[in-house]
Amino acid sequence: EKLLQNQVAFVTGAGSGIGRAAAIKLAQNGGKIALVDLHKENVEEVKKQIEEMGSEALVLEANVSHPEEIEKCYQRTVDQWGRLDVVFANAGINGEVIPIEDMDPKDWELTTSNNLTSTFLTVKYAIPHLKENGGSIIITSSINGNRVYKNFGMSAYSTSKIGQMGFGKMAALELAKYHIRVNIICPGAIETNINENTWKDKEKLKKIEIPVEYPEGSQPLENRAGKPEQVADLVLFLASSGSSHITGSEIYIDGAESLL
Ligand code: NAD
Repeated sequence: EKLLQNQVAFVTGAGSGIGRAAAIKLAQNGGKIALVDLHKENVEEVKKQIEEMGSEALVLEANVSHPEEIEKCYQRTVDQWGRLDVVFANAGINGEVIPIEDMDPKDWELTTSNNLTSTFLTVKYAIPHLKENGGSIIITSSINGNRVYKNFGMSAYSTSKIGQMGFGKMAALELAKYHIRVNIICPGAIETNINENTWKDKEKLKKIEIPVEYPEGSQPLENRAGKPEQVADLVLFLASSGSSHITGSEIYIDGAESLL
């Protein structure tokens, strides 16, 4: 029997990068997957891939920083499959790379609402569907969840990632009584689209003293960034009963990048 046989997983940011790799990995292991993303076209492809491997998927186009949208996504998921077991609160953006003194309050708001408020909403609206039978929630923070790391010009991002860490631990404590586990994963640099635009404008980066070659070659273990599939393996472990006594933990997946 597969690890997640008959289980339902809800994955945000499922159209790209870590979310996409995790959705596919959870489906390979028997899960039925609700694919949530801002961009429908991207998740349509993931759904096709999941169906080709003999599992089921649901495409949910939504902005997870909007309460009514995320609430509706959960409703559609339980209408479809009648249960919820795993939530991967993963959607996020880098936001503008910009010094604090030049940052528009709207940019601050955009980054913190997409990364941090969205995590609160994704957890909050899952609770009614998980509290009866328990479940596993996994939050994607970052190595920046622990300390501000190299990210000059990313104060809103770092604030969100540190906030997700604190929120995830509070949620683990509060939700233990329902047997809902909550863990926080902290990737280092991972090869996904998120970094593409952020590090493109070399002139701007020079101005805020970011080493322009970041993040390539920055991880001691393999001298390259990690792969989304490697993060997906960790998500599968935390989703499954193999991690049944792990909650409130922060787990680094960074090839020792955070130790540099
Ligand atoms: P990505 O850009 O490849 O994928 C993120 C997905 O999230 C996109 O499909 C995007 O459309 C979606 N998304 C963003 N905001 C959304 C919203 N409000 N509502 C719905 N969907 C939304 O990026 P990724 O690297 O896979 O990032 C996933 C998570 O991993 C993020 O939280 C990111 O901060 C975190 N992370 C990434 C890295 C890295 O180096 N790639 C490192 C540490 C942490």
